[in-house]
Amino acid sequence: MSKGPAIVIVGAGQAGTAAAIALREAGWQGLIALIGNEALGPYERPPLSKATLLEETDLGPKLLVTPERLAELSISHFQGRNVVSIDRAAHTVTLSDGTQLAYERLLLTTGARPRRLSIPTAEGSRVAVLRTYADALVLRRFISPRRKVVVIGGGFIGLEVAASAVARGASVTVIESGPRLLMRAVPSSMAELIKAKHERSGVRVETGATVERVGAVEGRSKVILAEGRTHLADLVVVGIGAAPNIELAHAAGLAVNNGIALNEMLATSDPDIFAAGDCCSFPHRLYGERIRLEAWRNAQRQGAVAAANILGANRPYDDVPWFWSDQYDETLQIAGLYREEHFPVSRNLGANGRVVFYLAADGRLVAACGFGSLGAIAKEIRLAEMFIGRRLAPKVEALADPAVNIKSLLI
Ligand SMILES: Cc1cc2nc3c(=O)[nH]c(=O)nc-3n(C[C@H](O)[C@H](O)[C@H](O)COP(=O)(O)OP(=O)(O)OC[C@H]3O[C@@H](n4cnc5c(N)ncnc54)[C@H](O)[C@@H]3O)c2cc1C
Repeated sequence: MSKGPAIVIVGAGQAGTAAAIALREAGWQGLIALIGNEALGPYERPPLSKATLLEETDLGPKLLVTPERLAELSISHFQGRNVVSIDRAAHTVTLSDGTQLAYERLLLTTGARPRRLSIPTAEGSRVAVLRTYADALVLRRFISPRRKVVVIGGGFIGLEVAASAVARGASVTVIESGPRLLMRAVPSSMAELIKAKHERSGVRVETGATVERVGAVEGRSKVILAEGRTHLADLVVVGIGAAPNIELAHAAGLAVNNGIALNEMLATSDPDIFAAGDCCSFPHRLYGERIRLEAWRNAQRQGAVAAANILGANRPYDDVPWFWSDQYDETLQIAGLYREEHFPVSRNLGANGRVVFYLAADGRLVAACGFGSLGAIAKEIRLAEMFIGRRLAPKVEALADPAVNIKSLLI
């Protein structure tokens, strides 16, 4: 059993690593144990569906922090080890190798895992998901010229894999059971633009198509659709969403509600245990509801705010949600939370793309979604974030007119 006051962090991903660094930078002098079950140093996930699949040679994961920096900050990184239980009364966690660590405060940053197909899948078929660097290496091996890739699920990860695979010369089909792509997070007008971009790039997109089972034929996978059509594939990639890793928290008796349930200070139902990132849900003041996000910036910022609150800052987490996705040479960025009932205002940026702003019934800007060239979209979305955060209600005509600099509307 280790000695001295310790902050133990379960999960060495984006949120956990950001928190570990923030704790040290904020002056925490005690032990920091960062425990991760992957056999690698902490790394970034966004490149896994982008650069990692496109590079000619395997350059390794993009590290969040070097081992040297971890050593410099005296952060003890326990690599390749699972935390298997939490004893809240004794304030200890137990690792898969039997090690016990005492904590003064505990931070759970266990992330999420890909949802799997719940349909029959034949032995010998090659069905993969993408969450880890190890997963990305599997995809890399089977994505190459003349290979056939079927992506099940027209969400962000599926579409990024499709874009990377077609860029590597593979023949790609995306199968989506919903009536359109990106049903959960993106308005239909934007989803149409993205679909058109994929089709122009050579990806076949089939919406309203349900996969019934995956068979295996002579070393290839056979994707069988409900209406009887089939696709033969060298690789089937499943991108049908992710589920938060809540089992450890649940077994310890912590409240769970679409993720580990937190208050606005990111504390769990146990005041000595905090959480951050994809694994948790929290009440958001701008939306008046409990939300869970799966986004890089959210993980990074929540990790830092959880660290501050562990040290007593008492700071509510109320960042405007923000997400980006790269599709070919264009970027998709979303600020805020879009809902079907919001009023859309479209701003056409010509060759640079389009932004759609979403207004609530009281005229407040609550979300914005842009697709196009990085420079143009990033600027508009950054300004939209400020409007959303300050609960401003800009004039519809001004938002719609690309000649009006949105910055001039900020008061
Ligand atoms: C392929 C891919 C592409 C993405 N692209 C984008 C993008 O373009 N834009 C964007 O905004 N977001 C993107 N994301 C999302 C973003 O990467 C995640 O939101 C972010 O990584 C979440 O960080 P996290 O720390 O909550 O979880 P993770 O980074 O998943 O880290 C959690 C870690 O905890 C470990 N763990 C779980 N349970 C235990 C346990 N009991 N003991 C020890 N370790 C444990 C997990 O194995 C994992 O290593 C992408 C994600 C993926 C997978």
